[in-house]
Amino acid sequence: MGQNFFQGGDKAMCSGCGACEQACPVNALSMREDEEGFLFPVKDTKVCIDCGLCERICPFSSPDYSNDVAPDIFAAYLKDNAERMRSSSGGLFYLIACDVIDRGGVVVGAMLDSGLQCRHAVAETREELEPLRSSKYVQSATGDIFRRVRDILLRGREVYFTGTPCQVAGLKAFLRKDYPNLLTSDLICHGVPNQWLFNEHIQYLEQKRGDKVVKYKFRNDEKWGVCESAWYADSQTPVMSPGYIFSPYLYSFINGLTFRYSCYNCTFATLPRQGDITLADFWGVQGVFPDMDVKNGVSMVSVNSAKGVEVWRRIRNKTEHRKSTVDAAKRLNHNFASTSVMPRIRPYVYRLIRKNGYPFVAINLFRPSLPERVMVRIKNLIRGVVGAENIKRLKRVLG
Ligand SMILES: Cc1cc2nc3c(=O)[nH]c(=O)nc-3n(C[C@H](O)[C@H](O)[C@H](O)COP(=O)(O)OP(=O)(O)OC[C@H]3O[C@@H](n4cnc5c(N)ncnc54)[C@H](O)[C@@H]3O)c2cc1C
Ligand code: SF4
Ligand code: SF4
Ligand code: SF4
Repeated sequence: MGQNFFQGGDKAMCSGCGACEQACPVNALSMREDEEGFLFPVKDTKVCIDCGLCERICPFSSPDYSNDVAPDIFAAYLKDNAERMRSSSGGLFYLIACDVIDRGGVVVGAMLDSGLQCRHAVAETREELEPLRSSKYVQSATGDIFRRVRDILLRGREVYFTGTPCQVAGLKAFLRKDYPNLLTSDLICHGVPNQWLFNEHIQYLEQKRGDKVVKYKFRNDEKWGVCESAWYADSQTPVMSPGYIFSPYLYSFINGLTFRYSCYNCTFATLPRQGDITLADFWGVQGVFPDMDVKNGVSMVSVNSAKGVEVWRRIRNKTEHRKSTVDAAKRLNHNFASTSVMPRIRPYVYRLIRKNGYPFVAINLFRPSLPERVMVRIKNLIRGVVGAENIKRLKRVLG
């Protein structure tokens, strides 16, 4: 067992997965926010019986690397275009989730609840699956989800658990044995900001518009990409940022300014991957498979275990797919097998927000320079007038 958070309190050694809290036999641990708003386990020493379980299972110090070190990699998307459009990338999560639900199983994943709080939830029907779809770029609270998953597994029902690699690792650590009826998917993970920061951003949007945000999405429903869509109480149509750089929250996320410290020291951004199947965006796919229709999103799929192979065989006919390589995955998606690099300003970011307020930091730090903003607006204008497809054709002709 390596060094862990309980020994020295090193924040870079805890992903906040919640496995220790949920495993403690006497409920001596609780997940509490630190001064930045990230969740860490806090021990009630009067209740603790010193059994050592929390330290033994912590996946940061005892990671499980039992999956395939050389997985099969695919570029894939759903043949059903309407469903593909409603997903972040190629819609592979939805396909696997429907397969599990149709066979009587349940799906567990992250949702934004009506108060825009991100947390893990259980879906038993296709209807309940809807809020689990699409990426939420904020850390999801696991609450008591690992205990609930164990109860469902023990009743013999199939469970498809999805989450960040550290959450999949947390579930496996909590369960302490393999269940044949458990299937897991992790994501290629850039890192996570926290709920407190996301709440600040929502308040900032509400103050600017003078209206309440009732729904929020981190991805674009109309085309493939990261983009902010906010629905306000007074309107049915969302206000969309013309690109992620125009949302202070998403700009800081993409540039890695606001992650928890463990995300710059991630034990799980490596091969073998944590889930039976890893899902991600296949950025740059047009350079690898120019014949693929890329405009509505393509997923990168990494098939990491025997269970992964079985599910891929069941669903692959419903996808358009091409076989790729581990080298391409590493080259095109940095976080497939390496951790995000901490920007030098990161240790000051949350302090700056606490001191000067989120609007001040949003305007002065969480946005690119004026020339960059102008360039993006000009590009969007040209794309609108000439059309994205014509631009691609022109680029191909010009080499
Ligand atoms: C915090 C975060 C960082 C990511 N970083 C990258 C990256 O650097 N590169 C990359 O290629 N892809 C990244 N992804 C994955 C990508 O955004 C898509 O989720 C992935 O391609 C799956 O797309 P899909 O169309 O199959 O399914 P979708 O419909 O997008 O499926 C959503 C799935 O993601 C899970 N999920 C959504 N939000 C969260 C959350 N906050 N915490 C845990 N699980 C969540 C849901 O449980 C569900 O299983 C990231 C996702 C998240 C949540
Ligand atoms: S089990 Fe998870 S929450 Fe607990 S200390 Fe380890 S990484 Fe942190
Ligand atoms: S040592 Fe045992 S009792 Fe104490 S907090 Fe950890 S798991 Fe709970
Ligand atoms: S980068 Fe690593 S530690 Fe951070 S949320 Fe993703 S999997 Fe967890």
